[in-house]
Amino acid sequence: MPLYVIDPDLWNRSGAPRQAFLGASLQKLNASLGGTLVLRCGRPADLIPAFVAEVGAHSVFVTGDHSPFGRRRDDEIERKLRTTHHHLVRCGSNYAVEPGQVRKSDGTPYAVFTPFSKAWRQVGWPRPIAVPDVTWRGSPEIRCDGYPPAPAWERDVDGAGEQAAHQRWASFRERGLNTYDADRNSPAMDGTSRLGPHLRFGTIHPRLLLADLQGTRAHDVFANELAWRDFYADVLWHRPESAWKNLQPKMNAMPCDSGERAEARFRSWCAGETGFPIVDAGMRQLSQTGFVHNRLRMVVASFLIKDLHLPWQWGARHFMQHLTDGDIASNNHGWQWTAGTGTDAAPYFRVFNPVSQSERFDPDGTYIRRFVPELAEVSDREIHAPWASKRGIPLGYVAPMVDHAVERDEALRRYALVSASRAR
Ligand code: FAD
Repeated sequence: MPLYVIDPDLWNRSGAPRQAFLGASLQKLNASLGGTLVLRCGRPADLIPAFVAEVGAHSVFVTGDHSPFGRRRDDEIERKLRTTHHHLVRCGSNYAVEPGQVRKSDGTPYAVFTPFSKAWRQVGWPRPIAVPDVTWRGSPEIRCDGYPPAPAWERDVDGAGEQAAHQRWASFRERGLNTYDADRNSPAMDGTSRLGPHLRFGTIHPRLLLADLQGTRAHDVFANELAWRDFYADVLWHRPESAWKNLQPKMNAMPCDSGERAEARFRSWCAGETGFPIVDAGMRQLSQTGFVHNRLRMVVASFLIKDLHLPWQWGARHFMQHLTDGDIASNNHGWQWTAGTGTDAAPYFRVFNPVSQSERFDPDGTYIRRFVPELAEVSDREIHAPWASKRGIPLGYVAPMVDHAVERDEALRRYALVSASRAR
């Protein structure tokens, strides 16, 4: 009996892109199960034991959820089911290698990505099995709650569901996978798989992707990205408090700004009105499409942390609201990596320069022009720093909100405080 529980707590926190993608994926899942999917809305720890009693089930099978929230929830469900001699069976996970399985020879977890990824490949994963032949029973005999109201977000909904995920993978294999290593850093190109939401919601499994790879350099780079995904899930599994707290406590000594000016700066960043074209393009891609290219995620995150001196958690929360692939492990540890507060972090003193990143990764400004139409007429050379051009900032666009060189020094000054507090 296929049951999906919409937890209002999670649903309300998810933001329109994720709600829309999940809603559309469920409708497609229901169609593929012959309309038998039972949908219920409520608190899973109350609802599932009651449902088991209602339909006379023996066991409940779920995909293991390794997030801190999911683990707490499933433990509570398991405890409640046990009191009536029923079972919660966690089958596999949403990862190639389940979090917690890749360990050093002394049993401790890896803190650095490269050795993790080597051990990850050694642990390995089984090949996907053929689709089992199952007769589903459920709706309409079993009562269903309706789908939650569809949010006002139409994008990506056509691309939701398992079939769409397989189509996306097939087309990426054809046109992008073999050049992934070269193209993955160009935000103007469609050079990455865009499978993030499908991996996030389980409409495609990473083992399915890994089974198709052939060991070329480009394929290896792609496998490595899936290893990053497993790595961050593993880190969060070992250190659940790191979802919202610095993984490296020494970084708690880093002062961040707060108060009205900080909040006003944060609003400009969210709106894509910082005056740095590459940052604004990234932030507008996020709000308009629910996606940001990986290179831009790093650039805009670095800008928030090291140019505006705001807490990484502000940016992470904003991303979780707006990304269709928003995932607590990849997102919050991606933020911690940029902030220099996480495992295997980029050192704090490595500060992304938004102008040189722009010149390097969007040399002719194609990506910027797509999202910042105010700069459509600016030349390829001047689009990265329009304030420095002869004609000045075009009408309708904003002046840079900070001087990057000054803020870089300020970021380094603050980092020195962390080092000094350690030395004491
Ligand atoms: P591809 O390049 O095609 O990669 C294939 C898959 O590998 C991705 O779908 C993703 O599942 C995984 N992957 C790729 N890069 C990474 C990475 N650096 N870390 C972890 N997994 C990776 N990824 C998310 O899935 N959800 C998030 O909420 C998220 N937030 C991020 C926030 C920041 C600040 C940063 C720097 C990175 C974040 N990432 C996140 C990682 C990465 O940016 C996205 O996975 C990627 O851009 C998704 O596009 P794609 O599916 O085309 O990726």
